[in-house]
Amino acid sequence: MSIALQAPAYIRAISPYIPGKPITELARQMGIAAEKIVKLASNENPLGMSPRARKAVEAALAAVERYPDQFDLIAALAERHGVATEQIVLGNGSNDVLDMAARVFLAPGRSAVFSRHAFAVYPLATMSAGAECIAAPAKHYGHDPAAMLAAIRADTHVVWIANPNNPTGNFLPQSEVRAFIERIPAHIAVVLDEAYTEYLAPAERADTVSWIRDLPNLIVTRTFSKIYGLAGLRVGYGVARADVVDLLNRVRQPFNVNNLALAGAIAALDDHGFVAESFELNRRGMEQIVAGLKRLGLDHIPSHGNFVTFAVTDGAAVNGRLQQQGVIVRPIGGYGLPNHLRVTIGLGAENLRFLEALGKALPT
Ligand SMILES: *Cc1c(COP(=O)(O)O)cnc(C)c1O
Repeated sequence: MSIALQAPAYIRAISPYIPGKPITELARQMGIAAEKIVKLASNENPLGMSPRARKAVEAALAAVERYPDQFDLIAALAERHGVATEQIVLGNGSNDVLDMAARVFLAPGRSAVFSRHAFAVYPLATMSAGAECIAAPAKHYGHDPAAMLAAIRADTHVVWIANPNNPTGNFLPQSEVRAFIERIPAHIAVVLDEAYTEYLAPAERADTVSWIRDLPNLIVTRTFSKIYGLAGLRVGYGVARADVVDLLNRVRQPFNVNNLALAGAIAALDDHGFVAESFELNRRGMEQIVAGLKRLGLDHIPSHGNFVTFAVTDGAAVNGRLQQQGVIVRPIGGYGLPNHLRVTIGLGAENLRFLEALGKALPT
């Protein structure tokens, strides 16, 4: 008998996370040269990493025999957000912080609420902690605060909110998010996942971290994986009250963020030029792709991130025909959207390649 059968049923019930197909894998499968493949599947920054971050990472190579010291990045983030250093917790990607929050606040016999079509890591983290998932009905594919409030039960201890949401790109205006959180019972941890916040138009942004003063149950998470272009280094963080961060730190792996990631993140945080350039490229690329989808007669979900989700009649078939042409996008059947595909905004030439391939991939 295998020990696999001895794992708790809630672990065996987890559906594995399906990442975007790596370029190298499609190259092997299709016999296409890797350089000819366009990957717009994982919301990565098409500009790569900031040149300043690259220099810092290269310099940090000089001391990889030492265990990492998180002090400098925590100090820089505390200063950036105007909070105490005790209010910052670092993650191996922000997914790591989501997992810590689940392990601190969830357990068998407890539940967590999120929206249908919300980020896949919420059910993963919830189930890993042995808690029950409650997926509230969505409104226009996005979070419906009323439905989420109605879904809260006596055993609910976490509410997951992604704003903007991935994979749908929906954005809930900050005033509505704030009103929503105010109505969530104060003993429930609210995780506000803002992985795409840097892509919001200036008028849509809010200093959500400052809400923690009045909303002590709030945990805000951010990442260096998206606009900062450091997805492969794995670094993100959470901001919360010091007593909450203290608990998150107790379940955190002591050296969860490596030396190179710490150095890269500190430098990236100050590279305002790179962030501005990435924002502008995304804005133009979004216009280009949305116009192209309209020309092809395809509906899309208006997106506030660095990606856009659009509807086709057969997601799996169109995805297959895109792959044959060396274009990787993200099928999102696992999110309950089998006839939608999500495409990341790339460089202008990549967006064009995608639109041309999509034109050929659609059923005639
Ligand atoms: C990409 C993403 C993250 C960030 O993941 P990392 O672990 O920081 O790379 C978090 N939340 C959402 C909704 C995302 O799409």
